[in-house]
Amino acid sequence: MNTTLESTPTNSVISTEAKRSGETPVLPGAPMNSNATLTDLQSAESRLLLQTYDRNPIMFTRGEGVHLFDENNRPYLDLLSGIGVCALGYNHPAINKAISEQAPKLLHTSNLFYHRGTTELALRLTEITGLDRVFFTNSGTEAWEAALKLARAHAGLLRSEGKQIGAKFLALEHSFHGRTMGSVATTHKLKYREPFEPVMPNVEFIPFNDVAALRAAFNNEVCAIGLEVIQGEGGINLISEEFLTTARQLCDSTGALLMLDEIQSGIGRTGKWCAYQQYGIQPDVTTLAKPLAGGIPIGAMLCTEEAARAFTFGTHGTTFGGNPFAVAVAIAVLDEIKQTNLLDHVKATGDYFLAQLRTLQSKHEAIKEVRGLGLMIGVELQTEDLAKAIFTGMLQDRILLNRTHETVLRFLPPFLIERKHIDQTIAALDKLLTQHRSSQASAATTTAA
Ligand code: PLP
Repeated sequence: MNTTLESTPTNSVISTEAKRSGETPVLPGAPMNSNATLTDLQSAESRLLLQTYDRNPIMFTRGEGVHLFDENNRPYLDLLSGIGVCALGYNHPAINKAISEQAPKLLHTSNLFYHRGTTELALRLTEITGLDRVFFTNSGTEAWEAALKLARAHAGLLRSEGKQIGAKFLALEHSFHGRTMGSVATTHKLKYREPFEPVMPNVEFIPFNDVAALRAAFNNEVCAIGLEVIQGEGGINLISEEFLTTARQLCDSTGALLMLDEIQSGIGRTGKWCAYQQYGIQPDVTTLAKPLAGGIPIGAMLCTEEAARAFTFGTHGTTFGGNPFAVAVAIAVLDEIKQTNLLDHVKATGDYFLAQLRTLQSKHEAIKEVRGLGLMIGVELQTEDLAKAIFTGMLQDRILLNRTHETVLRFLPPFLIERKHIDQTIAALDKLLTQHRSSQASAATTTAA
């Protein structure tokens, strides 16, 4: 018999009476992990977890290279890498080595003490970003939160030095910076902000790439302009050179900070370490996270020496940020990317992927636009329904991607992806779009008849 939570009469939910009476709750059933089926998990999670994730009905048990495997050992080509995290794919020897060497030595010390990894990683990150100092976090949103706090503190410092500068942020329409209160306040989508209002005040959203609107909104009330160089969640939108250059000039004119969120686009995803390097623009602050340790949680906020003056002992902190374990894995990831010239590979495979998608676009009217840089790619389809259907069809073909901004198919594959995987993807998309066109045509014929 399958002794999972699902098949156990009392199930895993600790009874309310047991909680009230203070009895030691007994979690029934054999260890869940070994035998639980997907149905068991769906049933248990529906009662145990806050219902914040509308998961796809697939359970993965392992990964290898650019493939994930479900409980029946069926491979899925992964073009999403855990939303841009598993840049080195799965079961990568460099990551495994760092984990197995660091784990027995030291996992955590707190930020009250020194360990060697911090400097090692900070040296690498300052070198690849061109910035001066680092604050380590555990996630993207915490890195962005640190950036927001730094901007406010920096403006305060400038005011104390006699400058006129306010506390307002300019962010962009369709932006996404995370789910904590400050990040959500600078995130454009109403759905993410509205339930939590009042969120942090003093944020104005500028229409995407609207230089005139940016100029009109900017004055010395602004302490920072914050944006993603390539919007991820917002549908893979590339910032224009003119917009970024203008933002840089405006910030320079008052001492406000230009803060570029590279949480999704950074660490090589576009073929350069940071997407801003594609534009030759240097920010005052940048934020990194997702692929930094290839799947182990870590984030980083980097800034100039000037901006760093605003944080002093005790102004900001975190228990876990920059712990020896996450840092050791991040060092291994960065060294592997560098030693294997992976950025060149990202650029070459990204160019190939984009070219193949554009050829597909010329064949299928249903593709409205193909956008991207390196291996950060979006395919905008004509309708939301079509995007949903293609997403589902690809899943049935065991190819993983995701749908963002309703109509956009988003591709964030592991950096190790090869041409043969791209060819497989293009063939699957072509098949599904051709099927869609035939069904549209037969529906039109039926209507006409
Ligand atoms: N900023 C950007 C551009 C992101 O894409 C994300 C996550 O998708 C975040 C911030 C938030 O990162 P995290 O989910 O690690 O908090």
